[in-house]
Amino acid sequence: MSILIQGRRAIMPMTVQTDASTTKNPALVNPRSSWRTSQNGAIEHRCSRCKTWMPATGDNFITAKNAFMGLGPTCHQCNRKISADWSRRNKEKAVQKNIRYQHRLAVSGDWTAQDQQNLFDLFHHHCVSCCQHESVCGKLEADHVVPLFLGGTSSFRNRQPLCRRCNAKKAVQVIDYRPSFLSRIRRAA
Ligand SMILES: [Zn+2]
Ligand SMILES: [Zn+2]
Repeated sequence: MSILIQGRRAIMPMTVQTDASTTKNPALVNPRSSWRTSQNGAIEHRCSRCKTWMPATGDNFITAKNAFMGLGPTCHQCNRKISADWSRRNKEKAVQKNIRYQHRLAVSGDWTAQDQQNLFDLFHHHCVSCCQHESVCGKLEADHVVPLFLGGTSSFRNRQPLCRRCNAKKAVQVIDYRPSFLSRIRRAA
């Protein structure tokens, strides 16, 4: 095949092979790689998991930055299986971790009905936040001064009586109302 350029004959090469195509396309360097060129010249890629050859496009393969043609080693279908396996394994891990956590809580949480009675008696059946008697502010609850999820324990030392309203207001904050309550009843006495 020949064409005329500015009145002179020039030979058109049959195949265009630039340096870039030989160095960047592993199929041209290593025929056993996961890359090959099909008969119509399209580049194909082989999934490392299901070993299927498919046209090397983002429709077939996951994308990967800096990889050849920007494609990763696995097809979309295999990648979905891989990520499903991964999340299942990690969910199991998360459940195991939660079981250990609950177990630790159960070990430290030897809180009994008698402990609760003793706590309420100690504070004369008052809510230590609003300083009202339970006959006024309602049923008391044995609040965790330092919440469990922040490392607090179920021990007596980490408990204070709060009415339902004050306990809801405190929520997950670390507030020890006991010192101010005790100094207040000491002043009143
Ligand atoms: Zn695959
Ligand atoms: Zn209260």
